[in-house]
Amino acid sequence: MTALPPAGTSWREYGLCAQTDPELFWPEKGSSTAEARKICTACEVRLECLEYALTHGEPGVWGGTSENQRKAIRKARRRPAAA
Ligand code: SF4
Repeated sequence: MTALPPAGTSWREYGLCAQTDPELFWPEKGSSTAEARKICTACEVRLECLEYALTHGEPGVWGGTSENQRKAIRKARRRPAAA
């Protein structure tokens, strides 16, 4: 179990990407996102990051997903639940 961040801090301050090469998370079109997504798997704020990117339509790698993966998640969430 992870401790909650102290009041007044943001989940962003806990992101592992802040300790690595930021360019990995903003790859040029057609470049691999695998290395950045691998870093995200060990990040304790991955879910917060993913929800932020889904809500705000951010480009790049967020929450362990590529832009195309988030597009698929948003599309799946819009689908009505099966009866
Ligand atoms: S999940 Fe990935 S992109 Fe999001 S804060 Fe963590 S390392 Fe950065």
